[in-house]
Amino acid sequence: MTEPRLATVLTRRTQRVTWTALTAFAVLVVAAFAAAGEFALQRSLQHSAYVVKSLLRAYNDSARGPDVVAPSALTERLVSMGGQVLITRTVTTTNGQPQVYYVSPGMPEERLQGLPASASREEIRQFLLAAITQRSRWRFGVFQRAVDAYDIYIVASRDPYLIGLSVLIAAVALLLPLAAFVAGRGARQAVAATLVPLDRVTADTQAIGPAELGTRIASPTGQAEVTALADGINRMLDRVDRAHRALKAFTADASHELRTPLTLVRAHAQWGLAHQMQEAEVRDAFTSIEREVERTTKMVEELLLIARGENRQLALTRVRFDLLSVVDEVKEITEAMAIDKSLSVRVEPTAAAAEPAWALGDADRTRHILLNLATNAVRYTVQGGIVFRLRRDGSMVGVSVQDTGPGIAPEHLDQVFDRFFRIDQSRSRELGGTGLGLAIARLLAELQQGRITVESTLGEGSAFTLWLPAATT
Ligand code: ADP
Repeated sequence: MTEPRLATVLTRRTQRVTWTALTAFAVLVVAAFAAAGEFALQRSLQHSAYVVKSLLRAYNDSARGPDVVAPSALTERLVSMGGQVLITRTVTTTNGQPQVYYVSPGMPEERLQGLPASASREEIRQFLLAAITQRSRWRFGVFQRAVDAYDIYIVASRDPYLIGLSVLIAAVALLLPLAAFVAGRGARQAVAATLVPLDRVTADTQAIGPAELGTRIASPTGQAEVTALADGINRMLDRVDRAHRALKAFTADASHELRTPLTLVRAHAQWGLAHQMQEAEVRDAFTSIEREVERTTKMVEELLLIARGENRQLALTRVRFDLLSVVDEVKEITEAMAIDKSLSVRVEPTAAAAEPAWALGDADRTRHILLNLATNAVRYTVQGGIVFRLRRDGSMVGVSVQDTGPGIAPEHLDQVFDRFFRIDQSRSRELGGTGLGLAIARLLAELQQGRITVESTLGEGSAFTLWLPAATT
């Protein structure tokens, strides 16, 4: 299934929002126009009623009575106003019956016929209003106001604003699709312009192959999110590049390390096969071959251990164990290793005085780490002694292996943990080192959530300390 492009999705969404907003806006404009028209009409009706009311007073026919309007004069005036005005005058006869008279433009005052005889003034008003409203329907606005004995009914046509409204609706209906089309095009262009930095990052990322791991994506991109993406990719490239370089260096180192013993093996074999060789010489050749094969086998095993450790394929337990008893075992092996040298080996505090030091991790892997540290101490120390010292620091327990060897220069302190790094290549080889001992020790410590630190002074000795999480009792 092909996924839609981001530009298409964004354009579609923007267009949908634009359509909805435009339609809502148009509806609002039409509704506001209608409301304004209706408001203006009602205002005009009220105004007319107000004018008529004052006219009623001004044209009072005082000769005929206090509530009597001179019809002809009022009529003339109302006709000149041009509106549809109906005025009624209700009088109550001597027998209490209301009688309603017309006072309207173009007509003499006349009694209204057909009204219920017993109807109250209010009922007559409702009756008249209903009759006018029914006739005028929604195309006219009707307004009624009572003044003394008079009732004023004003009717005005809605035609002017209905025409305006119709024109507005027609214009909206015609212009809305056009506006939506223009807005849609605008949205497409805006989205395309917005996505340019993202497209550039995609293209730059795709252009980076194994040979261009040193290339980085241009940042900042002009958009915070895209810059964050570019920076994220750049950081990932840093890591991939570092790993790739390390792998290349490791492959080169490993090939070199393996080639050296193989060359030696071949040389010994050729020498042993040469003519006129005494049996003792052949034996020597085989002994040398055996030593090189042993050393190579050890190196391959160590490399496999590192590979499995780095791929998290090493089985490690995580249980409570006594670090002191592991140190005691390692001390005994160290004594055996140092038997040919005049080196003293001690544990501090002495086993008798020491309390168990409970650590959390794998006792066998811990022994392996301490053996690697102790082997180096014995290997590089000519005279003096080796001390295993138990330590404690907050939630960690540690053992430092201190020697009185040559010490390590500050610039080499970090490097000694790198694979195949040796300060003195030939001496290390001579002494049986593979250059992997400390790399393995650090890896095994880290796999147990521990670490190894080193302190060293040139000419005085070194102290490598293994720290492991302390086990809570
Ligand atoms: P190797 O097999 O060569 O001993 P390691 O990884 O164990 O490899 O150590 C790396 C290098 O660190 C050694 O070659 C040596 O130069 C230096 N080194 C390690 N331990 C000591 C020590 N206790 N005293 C002096 N140098 C040391």
